[in-house]
Amino acid sequence: MFFIANWKMFGDLRTLNSLDNVIKFSKTNKNKFKLIYCPPNTLIRPMSKRLKNSNLEVGAQNCHENDDYGAFTGQVNSRMLKNVGAKYVILGHSENRKAGENDNLINLKIKSAIKVDLKVIFCVGETLKEKKNKKTTQVLKKQIEKGLQSIKNKSKIIIAYEPVWSIGTGLIPKSEDLIKSVLFIRSRFGRKSPKILYGGSVNSDNINQLKNIKSIDGFLIGGASQDPKKIIDIIKKTYI
Ligand code: PEP
Repeated sequence: MFFIANWKMFGDLRTLNSLDNVIKFSKTNKNKFKLIYCPPNTLIRPMSKRLKNSNLEVGAQNCHENDDYGAFTGQVNSRMLKNVGAKYVILGHSENRKAGENDNLINLKIKSAIKVDLKVIFCVGETLKEKKNKKTTQVLKKQIEKGLQSIKNKSKIIIAYEPVWSIGTGLIPKSEDLIKSVLFIRSRFGRKSPKILYGGSVNSDNINQLKNIKSIDGFLIGGASQDPKKIIDIIKKTYI
């Protein structure tokens, strides 16, 4: 099972101390799960040093679409992220879509990440309005088709199904709706389906319900992932 910890725009050097208990926990539960921390860019290097010799890995939360260096003030590309220790990058997150990223831009970003050998956690999901209008599968189809356009080798892709209305709201989809969306996503890939994760308000209470959905390969966790106790609890409960 995959657990992706998205720290969003939280955390500083002191916050890294909180990882020690998680490292200890992961060592006693070796090989059971894969935990990938995605901190802000400022923490990628120190975090990857801290996680050396542990089985936890580091990823980034976004990148520029140009994998080469260039005059793009304030931007960081996939090559730079890789150079400081990132192995993964989250792309297509709804918070970035909301800030203006469209499917074509996300497609370029995914290509730039694959080019430097980063694994991509590609986020897709419908808004509340789209859900109410019964457009969920239509939206997922479009996001997947456009986001992965002309990418033949999808071995570096992990999909995170994140209904926009469930991120940070405490709401999660009904199990039957979640299963339907995950199976729909899987059906877009045929026999070589990528791993499919669920993200949106995962916490140590609702994990008991979510873990029973066998078609899910793991979870993308935002708010709860900044607290080591909560992340350990979520992982423990997944395996009980
Ligand atoms: C996220 O940021 O992708 C996310 C799922 O956040 P939260 O767990 O806080 O809903």
